[in-house]
Amino acid sequence: MKEAARPIYRPIYLDCQATTPVDPRVVEAMLPFFSEHFGNPASITHAYGWAAEAAVSQSRQTLAAAIHAEPEEIIFTSGATEANNLAIKGVAEAYFAQGKHIVTVQTEHHAVLDPCDYLETLGFDVTRLPVQADGLVAIADLEAALRPDTILVSVMAANNEIGVLQPLAEIGVRCRDRGILFHTDAAQAIGKIPLDVNALSVDLLSMTAHKVYGPKGIGALYVRRRRPRVQLAPQIHGGGHERGLRSGTLAPAQIVGFAKAVELAIATMAEEQAQLATWRDRLWQQVQTLPGVRLNGHPTQRLAGNLNISIEGVDGQALLLGLRAIVALSSGAACSSTKTTPSHVLKALGRSDALAYASLRFGLGRFNTAAEIDRVAEAVCETVTSLRQASAQPSR
Ligand SMILES: *Cc1c(COP(=O)(O)O)cnc(C)c1O
Repeated sequence: MKEAARPIYRPIYLDCQATTPVDPRVVEAMLPFFSEHFGNPASITHAYGWAAEAAVSQSRQTLAAAIHAEPEEIIFTSGATEANNLAIKGVAEAYFAQGKHIVTVQTEHHAVLDPCDYLETLGFDVTRLPVQADGLVAIADLEAALRPDTILVSVMAANNEIGVLQPLAEIGVRCRDRGILFHTDAAQAIGKIPLDVNALSVDLLSMTAHKVYGPKGIGALYVRRRRPRVQLAPQIHGGGHERGLRSGTLAPAQIVGFAKAVELAIATMAEEQAQLATWRDRLWQQVQTLPGVRLNGHPTQRLAGNLNISIEGVDGQALLLGLRAIVALSSGAACSSTKTTPSHVLKALGRSDALAYASLRFGLGRFNTAAEIDRVAEAVCETVTSLRQASAQPSR
């Protein structure tokens, strides 16, 4: 059989909000847990199980320390989607006798919005807060939305499209004062900004490994055990793993990789984020030489590695086509098999459909280089200029 032709050239990867490559140091840490220490951490009768359990336990400690939590407060899941589902549906099911009102935000990831939509079909009442033009939630809007029957507020730490960092501490204290649980989806934030569940008054926090140079398929939910002790209804039933909150054999290799990835990111956070911010600002300066380019999201309260722009007067589809041989990135169009819709995040900022489609999300990361950033800036400028020239020409 003939092998399919492989491209000899791969575009520059600038899609780190979608996923990141696994850091080689993470791969190395994971390898012994496939064939050598392959035991089931739940096997308490022999050394194979003990070795796996010791590694899981060590990783749990690392991850807990990363957010100033206790190891028993970390529940491993398959990723942030599952962690969000467990947090939102788990709280709804455990607290419905106290109230059926949930508050979230229009710019959340679908892994938060869709569980909320689902709960609405079961009789829960969901408020989806708008955001300001810069993508931030207004505290006054949040306060106005809280009711005596509100049981949960879910607001993400860092947005996956526009990188905006929500004011978690200000939201947290308002929830805590009223006895309302506060969940945050920190999939884009862990390892990139400092997170302290106590300082932020966070009760539940979702994480994932693959946005921070760890493997796909592993994540965790932090569940507060003291002041207050959060009750949660499990969403996956079985062998009673993870204190009965999430059954299923633990994946030691994935868990060890997750902890290693977070540990590395936190150890180098200050320098790494400063480097990314420098590149991000340089990219922004260079693309701003084009007329009609707008920044999406707050100019400073954002992730260092994210730049999201809308470009006037170009077709979004043509723009991506023109760039895809050079750079791998995402646009403000969400494609399903049947139709393309403008990003709900950019729409919530008040962008028109055309500006939402004609947007680019640059996700910079650890393995990029300054030369790559310059190459991408140049390609964006050239492509936009030539598309504009082509559309200005009278059609024959
Ligand atoms: C990627 C992402 C998710 C989903 O995480 P998975 O681990 O892929 O399930 C959820 N929320 C945000 C903000 C994300 O960026």
